[in-house]
Amino acid sequence: MLKNRRVRLLAAALVMALTSLGVGIVIAGPAAADGCFTWGRTLREGMSGSDVTQLQIRLAGWPANSGEQLSVDGNFGPRTAAALRRFQSAYGLGVDGVAGSQTFNKIYELQDNDCTPIHFSFAELTQSGTCGSQASLRGGNPNDPNVIRSRLIQVMWQLEAMRHALGDRPLSVTSGFRSASCNSRVGGASNSQHIFGRAADLTGVHSLCTLARQARLHGFGGIFGPGYPGHDDHTHVDIRGGRSWSAPSCGI
Ligand code: ZN
Repeated sequence: MLKNRRVRLLAAALVMALTSLGVGIVIAGPAAADGCFTWGRTLREGMSGSDVTQLQIRLAGWPANSGEQLSVDGNFGPRTAAALRRFQSAYGLGVDGVAGSQTFNKIYELQDNDCTPIHFSFAELTQSGTCGSQASLRGGNPNDPNVIRSRLIQVMWQLEAMRHALGDRPLSVTSGFRSASCNSRVGGASNSQHIFGRAADLTGVHSLCTLARQARLHGFGGIFGPGYPGHDDHTHVDIRGGRSWSAPSCGI
């Protein structure tokens, strides 16, 4: 009896020791805190994969040149490396164009569990004036919430980049995704980028011209601001392919 009890106690002690060890290991894993996406390898030029795509979405707001749009294609080429260097520089990291634990930990710091950056949310990007919430992400083009959701995530990462570059001061979205019916109710153009989930209308503490000028450096293909019809009370940005910029009162 005594021997059996001893064995049981020893076994219990062993389980406790292993459990505490296991818990310790879980706490030590830096990526375990992130509920959105966890990178499992260092990424550098020449690599490809879905983990590169995830990185590119977060770098899309940091293209190396004004007017440039980073291709989110899963291939880590020189443009991705250049954008990564700009990201690293903007956040005070070592600038080497290689995405390792320093870069990934900064991204984990900057994102919420639903993959949106910390200063923007689906709630904000799906409110649109008198339409109220468009949170179902339905009725857009395409009528597919998953497509709209992934576009909005990229818009938000580009806005996060722009917000950081402007000194981390508030940047407000007054209209983001709109269903086609919402868009016609608020008087949007019939082919508006808002229906595609690619657009955001901005206000905030900066002047509308400051927003329009700054947007040129963060990968936005569409920029419309003061002096463009209907845009004297907000600056519109979108992630269409190609470039369509007009804010005559700001010299754009
Ligand atoms: Zn707009």
